[in-house]
Amino acid sequence: MRTLLASAMALSLPLLAHAADTIRFDGKRLSEQVKTLSSDAFEGRGPATAGEEKTIAYVVAQMQEAGLQPGGDLKDGKRQWTQAVPLLRAEIKGTPKLSLTVGGKSETLSQGEQVAIRAATDGSTSVDVKNAPLVFVGYGVHAPERQWNDFDGVDLKGKIAIALINDPDFETGEGDFGGKAMTYYGRWTYKYEEAARQGAIGLLVVHETAPASYGWATVKNSNTNTMFDVVRDNPRSVHPQIEGWIQRDAAASLFKQAGLDFDALKAQAQKRGFKAVPLKDATFSASYAVDAKVITSHNIVARIEGSKRPDETIIYSAHWDHLGVGLADASGDTIYNGAVDNATGTAALIEIGRAFAKAPRPQRSVVFLNVTAEEKGLLGSEYYSSKPLYPLARTVAVINMDALDPFGESRNFTTSGSAQSELLDALVDEGKAAGMTYVSDRHPEAGYFFRSDHFPFAKRGVPALSWGSGNDWVDGGTEAGEAAGKDYVAKRYHQPADEWDANWTFAGMVHDLPILYRLGNDLANSTRWPQWGADSEFRAIREATAAQRE
Ligand SMILES: [Zn+2]
Repeated sequence: MRTLLASAMALSLPLLAHAADTIRFDGKRLSEQVKTLSSDAFEGRGPATAGEEKTIAYVVAQMQEAGLQPGGDLKDGKRQWTQAVPLLRAEIKGTPKLSLTVGGKSETLSQGEQVAIRAATDGSTSVDVKNAPLVFVGYGVHAPERQWNDFDGVDLKGKIAIALINDPDFETGEGDFGGKAMTYYGRWTYKYEEAARQGAIGLLVVHETAPASYGWATVKNSNTNTMFDVVRDNPRSVHPQIEGWIQRDAAASLFKQAGLDFDALKAQAQKRGFKAVPLKDATFSASYAVDAKVITSHNIVARIEGSKRPDETIIYSAHWDHLGVGLADASGDTIYNGAVDNATGTAALIEIGRAFAKAPRPQRSVVFLNVTAEEKGLLGSEYYSSKPLYPLARTVAVINMDALDPFGESRNFTTSGSAQSELLDALVDEGKAAGMTYVSDRHPEAGYFFRSDHFPFAKRGVPALSWGSGNDWVDGGTEAGEAAGKDYVAKRYHQPADEWDANWTFAGMVHDLPILYRLGNDLANSTRWPQWGADSEFRAIREATAAQRE
């Protein structure tokens, strides 16, 4: 079967290669689009703001002009250009009252200092928890395929769990969870979801800088402000009422007062057979009101219908949103323009769409999905994958682009995370054919695979990856590439200074986008269904829908 498919592919390749060879991307047009999308007039492209309206109007006009069709919500039997994305917006009113009691002695916790409690997204408008028992659940992992269950024999109903960040083999570097690399079990999002499944009223993640890959300031800033989530049918199935973080030293001191040794328990939690440990005589109390309301944002969706198998879909994705208007930087600038992040990906999406519209119509359908609210926690992509406009079981692949390099050509490229799949293999081959080297994610412990818009698809079994520009520049090598990367992170990333620059050549994108075009175009003209690697945590869920792909 494999051989037959392979030779069929080989036969069709020369034709496709010919079509793909004529594909040229225009650096001037990319620059113009990035300039417009990141101009002050677009107000930093915050979801559900005037900036969103401008962004939608502009991107839709560009997509239309590029020759694409609307692929969004159905209205009176007609596809619209957008998919409405209802979002829950939740904020703690005033200062939350938080405390720990150990052996009858009560201690107040201050929000942002010892703990960072997120506004409830389980639908609660008030939280009133009195003296809930605390249980240390190790890494808070339930992974049947790895014969690992930190919840074995423990009942968390009415209790608050305390869990470590990352997965059980991060510190030792060896074990069943990919060694240093982070599996989804290591992400805080997973730990809250699992706590909800276990019936806990809350979970506190213990912050430690190395396994989290960021310091307490990041935890404080991103967890004590307004929370957003997609509007869910049953929010309590994935969100316990209390989701928060506790600083490492505050946790160690709490353990000590309860007669336990934090470091010793952590070492135990890294071994198979760990049993959850109740913190004797220790309880947690919390009281605050939550302001929760529903706002509506939009994913922009364009499509080319396949000529032979229109119900099979390749998705290209990129988020259009950025941080909007916020705190002023040192120069007094309050607009977070998001030129690199992610006007570049949005421009790339439009231009890959243009390439498809110009080429002979593909056999399978191709969707160009410009998602909202990535910066609020991958919410636009989460919403699309929970309410897909085209069935996920028959979605062949997702190719995501976020924060592309607007500079010159590079000799290499990367992906967010290196989760093995035949889709990644195909990308590596396309790159090789273009003379480029693939470099796997240099910081697999940071869990970038779970922090990009391809992930909500991967989690549901759809082969998905997120492309990353290279750092080995043709002009200046890795020295220049690394320096530019560091400069961006220090001076522009998620800051008002992420602005368009007249010196950007876009030569790198002009060089790289044909690779992404060919990856999708080859799939769109084949009958292949790329699969996850044998060890992948996403393979079983994909296989569960195999019958729908026969
Ligand atoms: Zn981004």
